[in-house]
Amino acid sequence: MSMLGNYIHGRAEASHSGRSAPVYDPATGEESLRVALSSADETREAVSSASEAFATWSRVSPLKRARILFKFKALVEEHADELARLISREHGKVFSDAKGELTRGLEVVEFACGIPHLQKGEHSLNVGTGVDSYSMMQPLGVCAGISPFNFPAMVPMWMFPVALACGNTFVMKPSEKDPSTPMRLAELLSEAGLPDGVFNVVNGDKESVDVLLTDERVQAVSFVGSTPIAEYIYATASAHGKRVQALGGAKNHMVIMPDADLDQAVGALMGAAYGSAGERCMAISVAVPVGEETAERLREKLVAELDKLRVGPGLVDGPDNDMGPLVTREHLEKVRGYIQAGVDEGAELVVDGRQARIEGAGDGYFVGGSLFDHVKPGMRIHREEIFGPVLAIARAASYDEAVKMINDHEYGNGTAIFTRDGDAARQFCEQIQVGMVGVNVPIPVPMAFHSFGGWKRSLFGPLHMHGPDGVRFYTRMKTITQRWPSGIREETNHFTMPTL
Ligand code: NAD
Repeated sequence: MSMLGNYIHGRAEASHSGRSAPVYDPATGEESLRVALSSADETREAVSSASEAFATWSRVSPLKRARILFKFKALVEEHADELARLISREHGKVFSDAKGELTRGLEVVEFACGIPHLQKGEHSLNVGTGVDSYSMMQPLGVCAGISPFNFPAMVPMWMFPVALACGNTFVMKPSEKDPSTPMRLAELLSEAGLPDGVFNVVNGDKESVDVLLTDERVQAVSFVGSTPIAEYIYATASAHGKRVQALGGAKNHMVIMPDADLDQAVGALMGAAYGSAGERCMAISVAVPVGEETAERLREKLVAELDKLRVGPGLVDGPDNDMGPLVTREHLEKVRGYIQAGVDEGAELVVDGRQARIEGAGDGYFVGGSLFDHVKPGMRIHREEIFGPVLAIARAASYDEAVKMINDHEYGNGTAIFTRDGDAARQFCEQIQVGMVGVNVPIPVPMAFHSFGGWKRSLFGPLHMHGPDGVRFYTRMKTITQRWPSGIREETNHFTMPTL
């Protein structure tokens, strides 16, 4: 069984921690690899490498940094099929979806290639007579990224392209469930000409993470994962003086108004609820039809569509399945447990994914798409994130009730409204307490040149990922106010507050 180690100072390094974890192929249930769980000392070694590299990397001109990212982008494109297969083999998602994830990650690289423009700062001439003021957006130093299993390429690529472009160095701690893709990205960065030590990968668990949260050389921590861990990361790293952006879990609702194009809404819901087996932080897990008639029509169409849902391995000869297996056996059991919890709490299980017959499932971690109706706020399957292919219909009597249901929820990552009414859509965008909102768009993930982030307990920290917020997060502003001696022609009074 091969063992995945770390990537430190521009090369793969074996770990000697003596601890490791299994990595499975979710489509077969077989252990395909072991991944090292690095020791605290090995993690510190990666931080040392990044810390040494910062002295020179931070002084490389933004244009040259961007050129390396341009090459990296070309290399990722060249290796896209290989990377997508790697993602699918460890995560389980279908090949076309893995390619889509790579594309969304590459868009952040494209954004970061514009860094000479993005990092320009501001300048004001004559803020006082003969006095100019300008700002520099300087890199922070060593930044750390900790990522979840569900996007092994895209989520790291939300972080490191912007961080590196801004002149920082980076230590990435990927999910131990599907760690191979970030390691391959590290090799491609080196091949693109990134100097050794600028980007490092440490595989591990809490032991490694705790070093990244407390080591005084780490200046900033970007985290994406579940809410309890996000909260821990935010509290611990902040207490150690670091800037933190910690993105957490979600429960995303889609409101379907009586005037919505129902075929469009159902098509959108199927992809948003069941794509990637529901293992997306922007997946729609609650459909909120407004009015009984809308609910009945929606339910009928969803049941018909679910009958056609193709579930199977992520890598197949011929056309892709619609969704693959869940990531681990443990997660499969958790999702099955939630389906049972919904039944026990009195929701109506309209389609039971546990009964689905799945071609070629073998010992893979498969469950079919499930649909609940008459789900009420307060039920566990409404309160908690299931992170599986389970869609709940929670009926609302009115638009106001739908909005209240969403605003009362502890999560606020994404939401959508389907309607033909501009006024309802406009009201919704203004009133809703959620960070990312779609109007007739089910998964409103902002493009790379906008920023990604939720509200409430879906994000801890003030700044979202990538886009303008990403550049702000990975730089600190220094403002210079300057006047030159030749401009001093008379005595100044040094004792009063300078007002220029
Ligand atoms: P997770 O919280 O279990 O793990 C995320 C990372 O934290 C991993 O690298 C893991 O090794 C590390 N970790 C786990 N336990 C830890 C501990 N006790 N101390 C320190 N580090 C620890 O999340 P997951 O199961 O990999 O990913 C799924 C979750 O991620 C879902 O809740 C999903 O909503 C969320 N997610 C959110 C977004 C977003 O943008 N808000 C995006 C993707 C995923």
